[in-house]
Amino acid sequence: MGLESLYIGRVLTCNTCKLSYVRRTSCNFKQRNQEHIKYIKQNDPQSANAVHILNYNHAYETINTTMSLLKLTTKTSTLILYEQFYMQSHYYHKELILEQNTGEYKPMYQLIFDTPITSPSAIYTDQYSDTRQLPRPQY
Ligand SMILES: [Zn+2]
Repeated sequence: MGLESLYIGRVLTCNTCKLSYVRRTSCNFKQRNQEHIKYIKQNDPQSANAVHILNYNHAYETINTTMSLLKLTTKTSTLILYEQFYMQSHYYHKELILEQNTGEYKPMYQLIFDTPITSPSAIYTDQYSDTRQLPRPQY
């Protein structure tokens, strides 16, 4: 198995505003960091992180202090799910840089954040049990 078949989920955190950027990649951290520096120097909009650094004039720091690993896998399909989940999770907690807000959020992931844990008796509403004659919960 070569390195090229290893996929990495990672999060870059801006040390100035503490907001994060979530992305998957199939190349190594060092190579990716060099690409980001290149994007920033060339004012290249293809990197959301570079756009963020340039727009807000926030400090750029090395991968050692800004990047952390989310997931390591050999399956790209698995990593796409992780990437989407972590992106949405960071967005929900207001920790995602605005530049990465794509608007493509998955309703299933939102359920994880929005759905309160309910006890079994809580699902019986008066209206529901009246119309369907469901047994009322015993207390
Ligand atoms: Zn920032």
